[in-house]
Amino acid sequence: MQKIISFEKKYTVVHMFFILILNVIYSLFFQSLTNFDDMLFIAIIGSWIVLLLKTLILENEKLIKIIIEKKLYNLLKLIELVMVALLIVGARQFDFELSIIYLVIIIEAYIANEELEESIYKLFYILPFIVINIIYEGNNLLETGKMLYFVFYIMLFLAVQKILELNIKEIKQKFYENKLLIKEKNDKNVELMKTQESLQELNEKLKEQKLELEKATERFRSKAAEFYVLKEIGAFLESSLEIENLLELVIDVLSGVMGVDMCCTVLYPQGEEDKKDISFHIKTVYDKKTTNQIRQKIESGVLGFLMNNRDIYLDNEVTQNKNLFFENREVGSFAAVPLYKGDIIYGLVILEQRYKNYFHKSIVELLKSVATQIVLAIENARLYESVEELAIKDPLTKVFNRVYMQKVFFQMIEDADKTNKPMSVSMFDIDHFKHVNDTYGHLFGDKVLKMVAKMAQAHVTKYNGVVIRYGGEEFLVLMPNKNSEQVYAILESLRKEIESTEVAEGVVKTHITVSFGVTTYPELVTDKDRVIRSADNAVYVAKESGRNKVVVANSEA
Ligand code: GH3
Ligand code: MG
Ligand code: MG
Repeated sequence: MQKIISFEKKYTVVHMFFILILNVIYSLFFQSLTNFDDMLFIAIIGSWIVLLLKTLILENEKLIKIIIEKKLYNLLKLIELVMVALLIVGARQFDFELSIIYLVIIIEAYIANEELEESIYKLFYILPFIVINIIYEGNNLLETGKMLYFVFYIMLFLAVQKILELNIKEIKQKFYENKLLIKEKNDKNVELMKTQESLQELNEKLKEQKLELEKATERFRSKAAEFYVLKEIGAFLESSLEIENLLELVIDVLSGVMGVDMCCTVLYPQGEEDKKDISFHIKTVYDKKTTNQIRQKIESGVLGFLMNNRDIYLDNEVTQNKNLFFENREVGSFAAVPLYKGDIIYGLVILEQRYKNYFHKSIVELLKSVATQIVLAIENARLYESVEELAIKDPLTKVFNRVYMQKVFFQMIEDADKTNKPMSVSMFDIDHFKHVNDTYGHLFGDKVLKMVAKMAQAHVTKYNGVVIRYGGEEFLVLMPNKNSEQVYAILESLRKEIESTEVAEGVVKTHITVSFGVTTYPELVTDKDRVIRSADNAVYVAKESGRNKVVVANSEA
């Protein structure tokens, strides 16, 4: 339809142009249009009307649609042709121009209407010309000139038609071939598009696979790292129970495997009675000053918010102002791994790196495993410590027992020999302890024993002294690097402290006293095996001479 419209529009302009030329020529020849004979007048006016109508119709798509659907197109063409035929026969002297219009209409009809290839339609276009000539000329047509003219034009039409037909056929063939080519091209395009789509799909799949592979590699990498770290820790645990050494190893291995800028372990002090400092191990890429700052900050409690954490804390977007802890150094990623079991929180492993988004989620498993191993090691070591303690400490007074004395006594003597320094030994015995027991009961007696042991230990620890429960209410004090004079002074102040301390239990309030004997190797006794006896003798002297005193042994040398 669009094809017809565009042709009709084009040829309507051509028609108008020719009819305009006709009008001009006629007005020149006939001076006034009133002199037109009827046929010519009707033809010209009719042509204008037809052309105007056509222009109007061409502007209205709906109307065109109706015309084509109702097969009115050929009828309208026929009317147009009749008009032109009238023009041709009505103005014989201008045959040439009019014939051209007629030919133009035929060309146009050929192009527009595919059915014209059938010969019946050829007549359809020539018929108006023949009929109108016959009606208009009547018998005149039989004149030789007119007949020749008439036949000549019909022949001309037919010849033009033939040429057109051939050309148009060729054009149509080409058009058809082009159409085929275009279709083929289109098909190819569709195929290409499909290929492109499937390529895209393939690409997507490859991308997914690449991602999966990356994930698998990452998993493998972290598993390998985990395996390595655990193997190292495991090997260590088999050979040693030293927690401090284990922690050094852990930060060494973790720093290496994870490539962090700082790795440290913090163990909180456990138990109320001995308020030990935190145990702290660290490995950093920073200088000593910064490393010390990190330690001080941890000790000052800036990471307190992590103290009771049971989950691994990961922050891959650290900024300096997030916490005092991160001041004065570049930190982008931070991880804190709690070391805990049940209710007991042992401490933390801290890792940091200057780049952001450094810690992948996959390391969580590794860190958890490491934490479990460390906690296990701590527990093992503590258990071992307590078993060991059980063997060498007196359960009542918590000072060392004779088993421990056997272990250290000769070692101390040996050290004294090596260093050429004195080694003093003191024995002390509670005065009239039997009476204390008898008067206030055995439990009160135990309390006195505990108190005396504790005071003695506290007093001599300052001088590296070790207190040992030697038996019953008798104790030993081993004092390396001290001569008898020094030890006398130390014990004299202890004796006074005990003497002045009130022992109270409920309504019972009393004071007790202690007698000390002191000896010194090799100053007073040179025989290693006689050292204890020498001290014992000195106690005996103290008792005999009135108790509550420190007696230095006589020199046996
Ligand atoms: P002295 O001044 O001469 O040392 O007089 P003493 O009464 O202390 O004499 P002795 O050494 O003979 O008495 C020791 C007493 O200590 C006897 C024993 O019942 C008591 N004893 C020993 N071990 C313990 C203990 O573990 N708990 C209590 N409550 N008493 C103990
Ligand atoms: Mg005694
Ligand atoms: Mg006694």
